[in-house]
Amino acid sequence: MIRADSIDNLKNNLDIVDIISQFLELKKSGANFKACCPFHGEDTPSFVVSPSKQIYHCFGCGVGGDSIKFVMEYEKLSYPESLEKLATMCNIDLIYDNQTNKQDTKVLEEINKFYQKLFNQNESTQQYIKSRGISDFSIEKFEIGYAPKSQDTINFLKTNFLNLSDAKEMGVIDRGTNGLYSRFIERITFPIYSISNKIVGFGARTITGHNAKYINSPQTKFFNKSKLLYGYNLAKEHIYKMNQIIVTEGYLDVIMLHQAGFNTSVATLGTALTKDHLPLLKRSEPKVILAYDGDKAGINAAFKACVLLSQSEFNGGVVIFKDGKDPADMVKDGKIEELNSLFNSSTNFIIFAIDFIVAKYDIQNISQKQKALIEVNDYLKSLNILYQDEYKKYIAQKLNIRESLIKIDLIKSRQLETNVNQIDIAELCIIKTVLEKKERLKQVLTIVDSSMFEIHKKEFELLINEPDNQSLNLILLNESLENYDDDRLKNELLILLLRFYTNQLNIIQHKEELLFKDKVLLIRKIKDNIKQLKSGKLINYNLIS
Ligand SMILES: [Zn+2]
Repeated sequence: MIRADSIDNLKNNLDIVDIISQFLELKKSGANFKACCPFHGEDTPSFVVSPSKQIYHCFGCGVGGDSIKFVMEYEKLSYPESLEKLATMCNIDLIYDNQTNKQDTKVLEEINKFYQKLFNQNESTQQYIKSRGISDFSIEKFEIGYAPKSQDTINFLKTNFLNLSDAKEMGVIDRGTNGLYSRFIERITFPIYSISNKIVGFGARTITGHNAKYINSPQTKFFNKSKLLYGYNLAKEHIYKMNQIIVTEGYLDVIMLHQAGFNTSVATLGTALTKDHLPLLKRSEPKVILAYDGDKAGINAAFKACVLLSQSEFNGGVVIFKDGKDPADMVKDGKIEELNSLFNSSTNFIIFAIDFIVAKYDIQNISQKQKALIEVNDYLKSLNILYQDEYKKYIAQKLNIRESLIKIDLIKSRQLETNVNQIDIAELCIIKTVLEKKERLKQVLTIVDSSMFEIHKKEFELLINEPDNQSLNLILLNESLENYDDDRLKNELLILLLRFYTNQLNIIQHKEELLFKDKVLLIRKIKDNIKQLKSGKLINYNLIS
C-alpha cells in the first residue's frame, strides 16, 4: 500500500498541464488549454485542460477528472499503478506501508527466468515449439519457458532463498501429503502478465502427455483467469492505435498472430469470454474480433460471446476457423493474406447470434418456426432500441415473416427518449457562477431551492451535496456559459424566482383541494413575493412555506 501522506505529497507536485502535455499536444485557449480528445475520435478539439482547476474535461464524450484519472484512463492503469507512473514521471519517491506488495511477484519473476533458462537448455521442448512455427524472436518476446521435474523447481526456490510461502501464495508450488510440489511439471510455460506488465501467473502445456494438455496458475490475489487476457500487456498499445482487438482461444494463436504482424491479438485463458473480461475490453472501445475454432465448442462459445458483447454494445464481429484450422496453423502455413481478409470480413455479432439461433430450428416447419421466432425475439429485446429496430428487418427476412410479428421492447425506447438532453442556459450559468466561487453557495441557498430549477434540478442538487463532484466539470469548463458577476447573478436569480413564483401562483389558483381561506393566504403571499421581486428585491425561499 502506498502511504496516504505519500499520495498527498505526489498530488501536491502534479501539474495537470505538464502531465497531459506529455501525452497530447495542448494548445492555449483563453485561460485553458485544448486538444483533440484522445478518448473519442474528433477533428476539432473539445478536450479542455484547466490549469487553475487542475482538471480536464471533454465536451465531446464527457470524460474528465484530475491528473491521476487522466493517467488511469490514458494508460489503462489502476489507481495505484497510475500513482506509480506519475511518481516516476515527476521523479518523486513513493513511500509504501510495507514493502511486501513489491515483493509479491518477485518469486514469479525469478521462477520465470529459471523456466526460460531451462527452455534454452532443453532440446525437445525447443523442437516442439519450432515445429509449431514459432520463431526465436517470439520465444523471447513471449518469454516461453520450460518447467522441470517438481523437485528441481523446489530446489531452485530453496537454493535461491526465495520465500516458499510467497511461492505457494502465487501458485508456483503447493503442499500435498508428501510435502511441497511444483504446480507445473514438465511443461512449456507461458508467463501471463497483468495490463500493468506485472507477471501474475502461467499457462503451461504438457510435452510428456499429461492428461491435461493445458493448465493455468490457480486463482491467487493477482491471478483471476476470468479477468485476464493472455498477451494484453504486449498488445495494449497496438489495440489503442489500431482501435481493434483480436480475441482468440489459445496461447499459440496469440504468439503466431503477433509473429505475423497481428499485434492486437490476445487470448482468454482456457475459459469462455465472461462479463469480467468486459472492463478490460472496453478500455479503449476497440472493435472486437472473435477468432474462434469451427468445432461445436468453438461455435457455441462464439455465440455466447456475441450475445454478451452485443448486449454491452461492443462493435465488432466473429471469424470462425473451419476445417480444424486455427490462426496459429494459418500463420505457420504462410496464409497471412487469407487471415487478413478473414479478419476484415468478420460476421457482425448480432447477425451471428441471430443466425445461430435460427439454425437450431427447422423453419420449414411452422411450430419450429414459431419457437425460433420466440427465441430470436427474446434476444433482440435484450439489445439497445436502435439495434432492435435495425435488426428487426433482418429477422423478418431470415424467418420469411412479416416485420410486424417481431416485437421490440418499448421500455428500452422510453429510456432513450428521456435521455434526450434539454438545457437551460440561465440555470447552467447560475450553477457555473456558484461553482467558480463556492462561498456564494450559502447565500444562494437562502434564496433558491432545487425545485426552482426546471431543467437542471439534478445538477443543482449535486452542487449542494457534492460541490466537488467531477460531473460538474462539464458545466464549470463550458466556455459558452457565462461566469456572472455578483450583480448579474442577482438579476438572473430574480428572473428565476419570478418564473418560479408565477408558476406557483398559477398552480395554486387551480388547486381545488385547498381550503378557500388557505388559498387566499397563499396567493397573497406569492403575489407579495412577485411584487418584491419586480422591485428588484431578492426574497428568502422559506417565505411561502
Ligand atoms: Zn472526448
